[in-house]
Amino acid sequence: MSILNQKTINKNISLKGTGLHTGLNVNLVIKPAEPNTGIIFKRIDLKENNIIIPNIFNVSSAIFCTTISNENDVSVSTIEHLMGALYGMGIDNASIEIDNQELPILDGSAKVFIEAINEVGIKNSNVPIKIIKIEKKIEFNNGEKIISIEPSKISLDIDFELKYENKLIGTQRNTVKVYESDLTDIYNSRTFCLYEDVEKLKEMGLAKGGSLENAIVVKNNQILNKEGLRNEKEFVNHKILDCMGDLYLAGYKIIGKIICSQGGHKLTNQLLRKVFQDKSNFSIVEIKEKSLPHAIINKRNLRAIA
Ligand SMILES: [Zn+2]
Repeated sequence: MSILNQKTINKNISLKGTGLHTGLNVNLVIKPAEPNTGIIFKRIDLKENNIIIPNIFNVSSAIFCTTISNENDVSVSTIEHLMGALYGMGIDNASIEIDNQELPILDGSAKVFIEAINEVGIKNSNVPIKIIKIEKKIEFNNGEKIISIEPSKISLDIDFELKYENKLIGTQRNTVKVYESDLTDIYNSRTFCLYEDVEKLKEMGLAKGGSLENAIVVKNNQILNKEGLRNEKEFVNHKILDCMGDLYLAGYKIIGKIICSQGGHKLTNQLLRKVFQDKSNFSIVEIKEKSLPHAIINKRNLRAIA
């Protein structure tokens, strides 16, 4: 069976926890799904209109997390870490059942999702995968926040930079090749915020479930979490995880190169909306191993993308 065929998970994954912003308790079940299902969310606390598709045009808010809504205004939020995990692990199809409006934040990273997927294992199908190939360079900026995507041969590269006035965070930059690099540090990197922003977020009715158990909190030049950082570039690595998750809302894996400075959920979404506005910006390719000329894509690369 071709490694380029669509994949799902072997068995149900059940997790529970608290929503970062809502503070609500939530049960989450990730279920295997048939080829060509894609990733779908189902709000099982509701009897009807409860399916929400993680698509860039369904993003109803991207300020502090990514929220998607269906045409009946049924929403599910903070989907980005799970979406990033599914992207990185090559899961094309899964049905995600949730009994509340926000995904559990768990430890603030994608670590628990990755461990759970590795535990149940991955199931291959006999249906080829599709990919989105970027054909032209597209850029979107909002003041100092800049993001662009341009064509690449076979990889998805993410080059991300963040700049904080806070000296401990400061300027951090990292580049990953999503289909080739070891993504452990990316998956393990937690969400973070400045201590002085915690009160502001709470006044806005956000971060109700936030704690040192699920977020890094930085106060001046100090990290308030006893255990410190999990890796040297944890701040920017978390932004790369967010970016991967937000990119997966394109529907398929992407071949292209992202360069981003000071971006976030909203900027990634705005870039993708711009890309998909014009059909000459991209092509959707069904990858069949047999039909590929070996001169273009060698086996090692195929293994990396699948
Ligand atoms: Zn995040």
